Amino acid sequence: MQIQPLDLEVPAAGQLTKVNDYVYWLRMPLPFDLDHINLYLIKDNAGWAILDTGIGTSTTEKLWNEIFAQLDMPITRVIVTHMHPDHIGMAGYLVEKFKVPLHRSFGEYFVARSLVAGARGADNWQDIDYLQKCGMSQEYIEKASENKGGIGKVVKPIPLQFQRMVEGETLTLAGIAWQIMIGRGHSPEHACLYAPELNTLISGDHVLPDISPNIGTYSTEPEANPLLLYFKTLEQFFALPVGTHVLPSHKLPFTGLHKRVEELVNHHHEHLDNLITFCGEPKTVKDILPVLYKRELNPHNMFFAVAEALSHLNYLMYQNTLKRRENTSKQWVFSTR
Ligand SMILES: [Zn+2]
Repeated sequence: MQIQPLDLEVPAAGQLTKVNDYVYWLRMPLPFDLDHINLYLIKDNAGWAILDTGIGTSTTEKLWNEIFAQLDMPITRVIVTHMHPDHIGMAGYLVEKFKVPLHRSFGEYFVARSLVAGARGADNWQDIDYLQKCGMSQEYIEKASENKGGIGKVVKPIPLQFQRMVEGETLTLAGIAWQIMIGRGHSPEHACLYAPELNTLISGDHVLPDISPNIGTYSTEPEANPLLLYFKTLEQFFALPVGTHVLPSHKLPFTGLHKRVEELVNHHHEHLDNLITFCGEPKTVKDILPVLYKRELNPHNMFFAVAEALSHLNYLMYQNTLKRRENTSKQWVFSTR
């Protein structure tokens, strides 16, 4: 089955598009190359559950209030797929405004709280070391280290309580059972929701059409192998029906889940194959960026690109295809020899 967008009108800012009797789709703007996020309202027993929240800005707040003015029933809970600012940004605002529960996986809840809390004065020598090992220039490292404040600026204070979403359990909303499926690699414990009765999967960022979600090895855990986790947790989606309606966090809702999962896997394997050829001679993380990215990278994208590059090299290192050594400049170099 080919990938086909669902026949739905893209919601304008502050507007709702009905997906089915139980789900509405809305969009919030983002100040990045990827300029929007899809959010969903899911019918609950006596109101609406919010699925993902938008980045924590006054623009998002204003648009949310336009949405609330159109609703006939109250907000009952806030569900968050994962801890990235475009998904959790407004969670604190919404939970506080309506005094409702917050549903998150354990990993996503605590990683978000720790990232928002920041370094608390801990020295950032390991962040610098990571960038140096990746082969980044002194100039880039200095700029990157200046960039303080982090995600806290666009994430409202995270509520002090949550209800845990657990893999394999279900969340029943208005009599509809939503199965919790956990994806890893893009974030630690990303929750997807699947309602067999509605033939609908809310895939978050784990399965996206058109674009491949960022799979990154970051300075927090430079030896991590998130690409392996991503591959492993993608397989479960082949078990869902071919005609499943997929509601992603970016781009358009679509059918053709199996085909899309296949494409995502192939996309990474193509990169991996190209890297094996390219690393016949020792290469740094920075050296391999042109193999993965044909486009020019701005500083915002560079941060994610370096992490994505390292995740691919680590994957090949753990399967013993590439060896990692340190060169005389204390940079990691990866090669097949
Ligand atoms: Zn994300």
